[in-house]
Amino acid sequence: MFEKVLIANRGEIALRIHRACREMGIHTVAVHSTADANAMHVRLADESVCIGPAPSKDSYLNLPAILSAATITGAEAIHPGVGFLSENADFATMVADHGMTFIGPDPHHLRIMGDKVAAKSTMQELGVPVVPGSDGAVTSDSEAFRMADSIGYPVLVKAAAGGGGRGMKVADTREQMGTALQMARNEARNAFGHDAVYLERFLSHPRHIEVQILADRQGNVVHLGERDCSLQRRHQKLVEEGPSPALNAEQRAWIGGVAADATRRMGYEGAGTFEFLFEDGEFFFIEMNTRLQVEHPVSEAITGIDIVREQIRVAAGLPLSFGQDDITITGHAIECRVNAEDPRTFAPSPGLVKDYHAPGGPAVRVDSAMYGGYRIPPHYDSLIAKLIVYGQTRNEALMRLRRALEEYVIEGVSTTIPLHQALLEEPEFINGAYDIHWLQRFVDNQGAAG
Ligand code: ADP
Repeated sequence: MFEKVLIANRGEIALRIHRACREMGIHTVAVHSTADANAMHVRLADESVCIGPAPSKDSYLNLPAILSAATITGAEAIHPGVGFLSENADFATMVADHGMTFIGPDPHHLRIMGDKVAAKSTMQELGVPVVPGSDGAVTSDSEAFRMADSIGYPVLVKAAAGGGGRGMKVADTREQMGTALQMARNEARNAFGHDAVYLERFLSHPRHIEVQILADRQGNVVHLGERDCSLQRRHQKLVEEGPSPALNAEQRAWIGGVAADATRRMGYEGAGTFEFLFEDGEFFFIEMNTRLQVEHPVSEAITGIDIVREQIRVAAGLPLSFGQDDITITGHAIECRVNAEDPRTFAPSPGLVKDYHAPGGPAVRVDSAMYGGYRIPPHYDSLIAKLIVYGQTRNEALMRLRRALEEYVIEGVSTTIPLHQALLEEPEFINGAYDIHWLQRFVDNQGAAG
């Protein structure tokens, strides 16, 4: 097992990885920008190295600085966390070239799944059902129009290099197709540096269902059931729960098996997530995330498995600690993303956290790097905490969530907590009867009412 791991990330996820390391007796090295010198992930780590100024491109995305930090501290492995360099195949390759272990899959798999067109065709070859659409990227406008006519409107134009919901535009009719293509290409070029796009049928009322898998180098693969992440605003997840209220046991076992089989046949190693849209009883693959996910605690709560610990074990060459038959999914978990944002306009709300008190009590987990007196820097993602509650039933989890949100005190900045509380009053949320478009409508109506 590694003696020292460098965590190439910040905030709650850096802390989450630190916690797994400490419980395994592994020393941690934190890296930080100048803006994060007083951050909790730095305070708790055994060692820390400043890797550059505040902007991410100069610090958390600064490959040479991170590799130097790992080398000078003698770290044997690097955990990239979520976002930043976590899906960067070049970084993973450089880590290996420096004689260290990248805690994540092989660069080859990062590369394939990072290209959503290649990912889709790979999955199709492996027998995974995909969303009907263009076979690969569309090169010319005339080809795009021809494709769209055969797929049927509405059509979704998606960036091949996409991520974080960017570079995605809907064309409801043929007339809108030209604009959608142009907008998606522009957004993709600005965000990812590549403007390749592909087309998919736009599903009108799907749920977002994703399957968590874990695989080791010995060829063992398990799935940890699914998470339902249908509550999204602008394609960004806000609430996640598991098991999905929309699946029955048979569907759950089937899609888990499909994901595990594909993982095994790809020779994939580490943690990964297969994302599907689920509509009228059918699953359609949309992408695979080759890293830890923000919402991983939902699966940890219903399986009792520490996903980060397994990632580290697998990267060190050890087998998974369990087989599929050892895994039982019990109870229900819900995660709320607490963002430092105005709950109505979603404008970022960085600044001084004057007072902070996190909820506790039975079956409540808070993953956060907040503390009273902390100043949220304006340079990064607005996610400041994840509140995860567990209940023996979905109803119990909902009651507990209501109670925990009431206890949560974050003074000085606006957060999405009032939005979560408003959601808990909505029959569609309470009954689990929502699709991926529901939250956007809810938020728009709230804005209109306010
Ligand atoms: P990203 O990598 O940017 O997150 P995804 O392909 O994972 O993009 O899609 C993000 C979200 O966009 C999905 O969870 C879903 O809400 C919506 N979406 C993606 N594809 C479709 C589709 N074909 N029809 C309707 N909604 C879609």
